[in-house]
Amino acid sequence: MNSIRLKARAKINLGLDVLRKREDGYHEVRMIMQTIGIYDRIILDKIPEEDIRIKTNLGFLPVNENNLIYKAIKLMKDEYNLPGGIEVDLNKFIPVAAGMAGGSTDAASTLFGINKLFNLKLPMEKLMELGVNIGADVPYCIMRGTALAEGIGEKLTKLSPMPHCHILIAKPPINVSTKMVYENLDSKEITKHPDIDGIIDAINEGDINKIAARMGNVLEDVTIPLYPVINTIKQDMLNHGAINAMMSGSGPTVFGIFPDEQTALDCQHFLKEKKDARQVYITESFNC
Ligand code: ATP
Repeated sequence: MNSIRLKARAKINLGLDVLRKREDGYHEVRMIMQTIGIYDRIILDKIPEEDIRIKTNLGFLPVNENNLIYKAIKLMKDEYNLPGGIEVDLNKFIPVAAGMAGGSTDAASTLFGINKLFNLKLPMEKLMELGVNIGADVPYCIMRGTALAEGIGEKLTKLSPMPHCHILIAKPPINVSTKMVYENLDSKEITKHPDIDGIIDAINEGDINKIAARMGNVLEDVTIPLYPVINTIKQDMLNHGAINAMMSGSGPTVFGIFPDEQTALDCQHFLKEKKDARQVYITESFNC
């Protein structure tokens, strides 16, 4: 096999709680992760030269060792002494710096793809163990589906699949640094924690209304005061039929859970006209 085409899927957080800051500076979290249909297209081609070459449709993205795809290839080459190099064609559709794990999922798919290309036959658990060296969300992006993420995000428990639903994604034209949000969180007292166990119960019951009612993200308290447009988009989604709407990860992307496709389409139309959000997509929950 000399070439492989991959779909690297984005995630949203149905719940995001931060328990404490650890001595090593990382934050201990409890998050409910959900894969969605939006994906980046990645093509990996073997080349004879000892090189890692990345081309992408987004000119502002790094194509050197700062790209997480580069890091994933380098890690696999070093770990398994792989011969030759890799040419990468990255077509990005997942909004960047948006709280949707775009970089992490690209790295996860690359680890998966290199495993196949070189016939390494590594089990998923091994890929997840390697992936955490690239980023805390990478193991989840390898597992995919509905999951509880604990520790720094790497301790994963698979949950029953979230009931199928229509999701509207809207990203205002701001880039939010995850690092900055967590640093700002440290100076705040978290007074209201989301009911993560309640979300898990609702997932087990397969009740989308209960899941939506219990959604919560502590990072909203940091990001929304800095960028009030996030709240405006949330309110717009709620006023246009969303069962609930919330910021994903450290933001600024807002997602809304909709009862049916037509309501989601109508809200998409409204948000596109209003132009608070530059990227507005309809997608679905994705379980593999
Ligand atoms: P998370 O939800 O994990 O916090 P995010 O959606 O906030 O992630 P990313 O889209 O992963 O953020 O991008 C954050 C930064 O990482 C970008 O500004 C970009 O420079 C860098 N980056 C490195 N590799 C990639 C990649 N393959 N795709 C997107 N961004 C990348």
